[in-house]
Amino acid sequence: MDFPKRFDVIVIGGGHAGTEAALAAARMGSQTLLLTHNIETLGQMSCNPAIGGIGKSHLVKEIDALGGAMALATDKGGIQFRVLNSRKGPAVRATRAQADRILYKAAVRSILENQPNLEIFQQSADDLIVEGDQVKGVVTNMGVRFHANSVVLTAGTFLGGRIHVGLENHSGGRAGDPPSIALANRLRELPFRVGRLKTGTPPRIDARSVDFSVMAEQPGDMPTPVMSYMGSLSDHPEQISCYVTHTNERTHDIIRAGFDRSPMFSGVIEGIGPRYCPSIEDKVNRFADKNSHQIFVEPEGLTTHELYPNGISTSLPFDVQLELVRSMKGFENAHITRPGYAIEYDYFNPQDLKHSLETKFINNLFFAGQINGTTGYEEAGAQGLLAGINASLKAKDQEAWYPRRDEAYIGVLVDDLITLGTTEPYRMFTSRAEYRLILREDNADLRLTEKGRELGLVDDKRWAAFSKKKESIEAERTRLNKTWIQPTSEQAKIANKYLEHPLNREYSLSDLLKRPEIDYSKIAEIGSQAIDDDSVAEQIEIQVKYEGYITRQQEEIERLKRHENTILPIDFDYDNVPGLSNELTSKLKDVRPETIAQASRIPGVTPAAISLLIIYLKKRS
Ligand code: FAD
Repeated sequence: MDFPKRFDVIVIGGGHAGTEAALAAARMGSQTLLLTHNIETLGQMSCNPAIGGIGKSHLVKEIDALGGAMALATDKGGIQFRVLNSRKGPAVRATRAQADRILYKAAVRSILENQPNLEIFQQSADDLIVEGDQVKGVVTNMGVRFHANSVVLTAGTFLGGRIHVGLENHSGGRAGDPPSIALANRLRELPFRVGRLKTGTPPRIDARSVDFSVMAEQPGDMPTPVMSYMGSLSDHPEQISCYVTHTNERTHDIIRAGFDRSPMFSGVIEGIGPRYCPSIEDKVNRFADKNSHQIFVEPEGLTTHELYPNGISTSLPFDVQLELVRSMKGFENAHITRPGYAIEYDYFNPQDLKHSLETKFINNLFFAGQINGTTGYEEAGAQGLLAGINASLKAKDQEAWYPRRDEAYIGVLVDDLITLGTTEPYRMFTSRAEYRLILREDNADLRLTEKGRELGLVDDKRWAAFSKKKESIEAERTRLNKTWIQPTSEQAKIANKYLEHPLNREYSLSDLLKRPEIDYSKIAEIGSQAIDDDSVAEQIEIQVKYEGYITRQQEEIERLKRHENTILPIDFDYDNVPGLSNELTSKLKDVRPETIAQASRIPGVTPAAISLLIIYLKKRS
């Protein structure tokens, strides 16, 4: 049957990409349908119940700055919060939260169910309605035909999913969920380049069978951080500790003895796994000289005894899993509640996508999340948000929007994917961003919330809070610039208590704040006036202390912007560019960059080749 209502946007899949995509499109006023296998698994964390971490929290805060759900749900579900790299510079500081997976999922579902313009339907999408080079809708396994202007596909690890434990394997989307076979076959008929990747998860353990007294306790940070710009400590449930244990020589011997029954080493698994989150057998094999690896023992929630032993993801046979777990300190009597496993799944070469995440071959069809070759909830959520925005814009015949690399980690993520492609699961790191000092997790709102408001993603409450914060920062920065301290004044006496060399000339409060011995709390004492909002004080301190570096990065960005705005048409005739080598012609044709700047980021594309492109582009127009 044809479903009676026509939608602006249909999103397939209710994981981390799909939920952000559906919410974004609906917030922008598009009539949106979220079509997913199972309503009970909306926002489900397939693997580690944790959000954030280095590079990843930057994405979470950007999603939040654009009105998304991930950070809000993390504040409602987080049971242990920490700031990683807290002693390093602000560019690499990152918030990480261990989450109660049930609370997290409930928070996501509640946000979805209360979102105007959004309807949810539980069915499997088995087919796409494609006419010519245009997607028109989706067909479910019951034969219901939903029609829409745009479709966002976020099927995660489900397309052609195959689960491995030892040499046994079977079809599955993740443990306990069916795979998407019909849709995977349909997508293979379309002109996308398809590959296989794999990921894995550790066995889970019953906390009642674990001896925590022999493990190191790792409590959360005090004061407890919050994830969302709209979050507060009162959102947090009870906070609990994680623990740390280690693998040892015996663990490694047990693992090595299982190599001949490992699907990874016997060639049964072909897909490439995540380099930065390898299985324990991979670690023991690759780092043969290391006789111990750290294992974080993380609670899965407040109302369950299940533990997530972070660091022993494995697809070894179950008997080996049991033995290796029990060889570790504190786990001698451990009871495994769920075996670890690996999963192989289809992904699509992201070079077949535009910056908007629309596919190059089928108009109005967008891809987001794990299917684009990424790994991680945060990477998926960020892409989902962007695809949802652009599916909504496209449905309204409006121009696409995406952040540049100097505006957001979301921009870095998408530009890396579509320019470089990926042959292994891609995860975000701060080192991937060239403008790290500008793209901090603390200023994602200042970078993106105004754009979010313009796009219709940011509600009045968030907008009011943001505007107040921005005004406070501006007012206080002006005051610090205008307030001068004389070397003989009472204020100078206070400052001198902290300074290595006493003041010998007039100083503005801003200049004082640049001194390494002085932080904002001391400025408040010297200047006898303080901002009571910590996030405002933090911004002022970072903006003033790092002003020189920030200005330099901004100048560089301005210089390069010209190339970002020089558009290369998708059908650009690279074959006819005089002087361009065959190798570069073929590389450029593979990627079909959207701008000169993107072309310059393709490995091997030289400044000389860029000049040839610019000259030809000018002649052509
Ligand atoms: P998913 O969260 O997988 O969501 C996909 C959604 O689409 C599901 O709701 C599914 O039911 C639905 N769906 C699929 N097909 C259809 C269809 N045809 N019709 C309707 N609905 C459909 N990440 C890490 O960062 N580190 C790890 O170590 C790690 N290990 C993992 C181990 C395992 C075993 C698995 C399964 C995943 C692991 N991940 C890991 C990946 C992490 O789960 C994903 O990155 C993240 O969930 C991707 O989000 P997504 O929205 O793209 O897909």
